[in-house]
Formats: sequence, structure tokens, C-alpha cells
Amino acid sequence: MDSYLIQVNGHGDHAPVLDVHLKNTGNTISPGKVKGRKPRWAVRASEMSKKTFNPVRAIVDSMKVEPNPKKAMISLSLGDPTVFGNLPTNDEVTRAMKEALDSGQYNGYAPSVGYQSCREAVAAYYTCPEAPLKAQDVILTSGCSQAIELALAVLANPGQNILVPRPGFSLYKTLALSMGIEVKLYNLLPEKAWEIDLEHLESLVDEKTACLIVNNPSNPCGSVFSKSHLQEILAVASRQCVPILADEIYGDMVFADCKYEPIATLSTNVPILSCGGLAKRWLVPGWRMGWILIHDRRDIFGNEIRDGLIRLSQRILGPCTIVQGALEHILHRTPPEFYHNTLSILKSNADLCYAALSAIPGLHPVRPAGAMYLMVEIEMEHFPEFENDVEFTERLISEQSVFCLPATCFEYPNFFRVVITVPEEMILEACSRIQEFCEMHYQGAEGAQDLECDK
Ligand SMILES: *Cc1c(COP(=O)(O)O)cnc(C)c1O
Repeated sequence: MDSYLIQVNGHGDHAPVLDVHLKNTGNTISPGKVKGRKPRWAVRASEMSKKTFNPVRAIVDSMKVEPNPKKAMISLSLGDPTVFGNLPTNDEVTRAMKEALDSGQYNGYAPSVGYQSCREAVAAYYTCPEAPLKAQDVILTSGCSQAIELALAVLANPGQNILVPRPGFSLYKTLALSMGIEVKLYNLLPEKAWEIDLEHLESLVDEKTACLIVNNPSNPCGSVFSKSHLQEILAVASRQCVPILADEIYGDMVFADCKYEPIATLSTNVPILSCGGLAKRWLVPGWRMGWILIHDRRDIFGNEIRDGLIRLSQRILGPCTIVQGALEHILHRTPPEFYHNTLSILKSNADLCYAALSAIPGLHPVRPAGAMYLMVEIEMEHFPEFENDVEFTERLISEQSVFCLPATCFEYPNFFRVVITVPEEMILEACSRIQEFCEMHYQGAEGAQDLECDK
């Protein structure tokens, strides 16, 4: 007696599929309730994954160019201050981490928003009379990136929009689009040290605007907003009743001649989620420790947003417990000289780089005031060989083995971004190669006009 019947279904518009049916009673078991539906493999990536797009990767991968084999590669593109070893974290930071590990007390699960003692430590570190913070105003996250993701997820529904700086950090758009949130770009003004074009900003607000992202100090600009400019931004948010998502990961990373103001200290009414973390100021981006500081003195967010953040934090636990165990010591034991030393290196590199690039015909760097970057305008009319910043930076790699990110990565064509965390000798060598490159390709007014006529 046959115990199995093997049946070949050869009809329909797709390949035949083998169906196996038990046949021990004379009745075949029904092949399925839906008539005519034959199971077949069709595993597709989700809509969300397809809407997730990292422009930096896409542009950099498309730049497939080989560096000049005669020159060692110098990369001024990575926003990771640890790659060259010239900016180590402080010994107290690593000691705190070792102690937390050796204590054996941080191997378990922590509460989804972080240990109470760590939330208290962060609140105590950032609280001030103008913007008081308590432990319940702090949510610990896996890096500042997760802080931004949770803040966006709690403030915006699919179909709403957020206001994002141009040029700006590409993560905002990547996260928003993958969540179905629309992005509206507001302009920063290079001739005004990258201040926000406030009229443009305000013109973009509509009834679907869920929040305004303010990144200060800025990646990629290296700019730092003055107190009065921050007050103007707050006035727009207040007038339009739009909450602020402040990306303050470079908070306090400003050069000696200017002052950093946390935006929340300048407002009594605008509700603000301030995102920060250890990555940049403590020079440990791989440790993935970040936080959201909830500033809501008028109770506008209320329990609605707080509970929303707590619920979202419960999806996947964010910050590593060992880093949480070290956090209080990191915040309290890191000596002030460490921060000063980091900033004096960055300031000195910024000055060198700015001076060297300013002297190059066809380039126009914008002097930074903080963070780890500087933006350089390419006067494209003087480089008629190149269509745009992507082509310019591509050729810079193939001829001079110097890699700078084209600012198209930040939605800002005809600029490139220089990272100033690399060792001084590398900055100087890179700038002299950029000079050689520009001198080679620069066309004065006449040359440029000739080419225009040829077109
Ligand atoms: C580096 C960076 C972040 C991300 O910080 P992580 O803690 O590494 O997630 C967020 N915002 C800006 C502007 C950054 O440059």
C-alpha cells in the first residue's frame, strides 16, 4: 500500500511545485483552504528596509575611484576621532569602565530607560537653574543615534514632517524616511557662519510639522550658534508651537573664543528633547552611550511624551550596562584638562587647516568655532573640468590620494567637509596636496569664460 502520493501540479503560470500528501485512509488531506493558492517561496525585503537609505554610503560607494598609488592615502572623511590614536580618551574613563566590569554588578538587565543611579548622575551633571533636570527627565540610550531615533519616533507619526538643517547630519533623514516621516530641509547660511535662515525655516512649518531639529554645534559645519541666534530660533518654535529636537552631541566642544549655550537653558516654554552622549566629547563612540534630556517646564509634553518614550525604550534595551556602571565616574572623575586638551588640539588643527585652505585659489573655507569639522566651498566656476563636488573630490582621490566627503552627502552641493581630528602632519600634508590639485585645475576668469563659450 502506498503511504504517500506525490503529486505534480504543473498548471498555472509558475514553475511546477511538488506537493506531498499523506494517504493512509484513502482520503487525501486537503492541500490548503485557499483554493488555487500553491505555496511558493517569495521572501522580499520589507518596505521599511527599502525606505532605509544612507546617502553617505550610497555616494561614497558610487565614487569607485582608486587613490594615486604613488601617494599614501589620507582620509579626512571619517567622523570617528579615535582612528589615528592622536585623541585618546582619558585614563579615568577607561578606569571607570574596568572597575564597572570587575565589580561583576553590571552583567544583568537594567531597566529599559537605564539604571536609576545613572539617570540621576546624568541629570546632576546637566542640571542648571535655567533648565533643571531630575532623574525622571533622563532616558539612557544606545548612543546619541538611538536618542534621536526615539525622539523622532515619539514626536512624529508617518505622514507628518520634520524640519532638518541643510547642510546637515544625514542620519535625521535616514531615520525619518524609514519611519514614513517627511523631511523638509531648512537652509543654513554660510556667509552668516551657518546661522539658520529663519524666514525660510518659518515658511516650512505647516499643520503636519512634528518637530524642528537643531544641531548645535554642527556636523558638518563646525558652527556654534550665539545666544541671540538660539533665542531667535526659539521664538520661531514658540510662535509656531513646534517642539525642538536638539542634537547636542557636540555640546561644550567649542573653541575658547566662543560659548556653548544648551538651547533648553534659553527657553521657559518651548518643549525640548535634547540628545547627547559620550561619543564625541569623551572620545568613545564605540561605547554606544547616549541620552535624551526631557525639558518640559510648561508641561506641554506631559505624561504623553514621557510615557511614549518609556514604551519605545522597552522595544529593545539600549545602553550597555557596563558603560552605565561606569557613567557616574566618567562624568565626575574626568579631569577638566582632558576636555581643554582635546579642544586645544581641535582648535589648533582648525586654524592650520583654515589658514592653509584660505590661501588656495578657488576654495573658500568657512572658519569653524567647534565640533570636529570644517566646510569648504568650491568655486565651481573656476574648476570647469568638474561638474560638481562629487567629481571634484573623486579626482582629488585619484590624483592626490586625499579623501574628503563631498557635501552632497549633507544635501549641500559644491562644498566638501574636512574632518579635523586627524594628526597635524596629516592635515598639513593633505592641505598642501589639495593646493597642488587646485593649482593644477584652477581656471582664472578668462579660462572659465572660454570654456563656457565652448559649451
Ligand atoms: C556622531 C554624531 C551623532 C551620533 O552619535 P552616536 O553616539 O555615535 O550615536 C549624532 N549626531 C551628530 C551630529 C553626530 O555627528
